[in-house]
Amino acid sequence: MRETPVRACIALGSNLGDRRAHLMKALELLANLPHTRVLRVSSWYENPAVDIEGGHDFLNGVAEVETLLPPGDLLKALQQIETLCGRIRSGEGFQNRTLDLDLLLYGEEHILESGLIVPHPRMWERDFVRIPLEELGITSGKNPL
Ligand code: ADP
Ligand code: MG
Repeated sequence: MRETPVRACIALGSNLGDRRAHLMKALELLANLPHTRVLRVSSWYENPAVDIEGGHDFLNGVAEVETLLPPGDLLKALQQIETLCGRIRSGEGFQNRTLDLDLLLYGEEHILESGLIVPHPRMWERDFVRIPLEELGITSGKNPL
């Protein structure tokens, strides 16, 4: 556990089933995580699926949270929330998903581990991440959080 809270940004996306319901459920579960508060949430944005033929359209947004959880614990919690919201991981490659939660930013930290890269690679190139972040005033300039 950290001694001082850090602000983190999380990308939320859904392109399967009742997308809005999955995103709302995810926010509720995020707010219920230990030592974590949801500070702000962007609007939801409709986006075509990238890199997949026949992929359903996404509903995407970002949330800013304040947490005492270390980054690895936070990612684990995000993956548990994905599972609780019906995400099934089967095999390689892109799959339609009820819920995708990515850790975009964790304070100003740079993390390079096998299962966790922060800032999330290519986040600023992806309109479905960049535009909701901009809505919250978070841009690729120095020290966004
Ligand atoms: P996608 O790239 O479409 O989000 P997944 O959600 O299946 O695909 O994530 C694939 C892997 O990405 C996960 O097993 C996770 O360990 C890894 N990963 C690396 N960095 C991050 C991050 N910042 N946020 C979320 N997952 C990450
Ligand atoms: Mg993901």
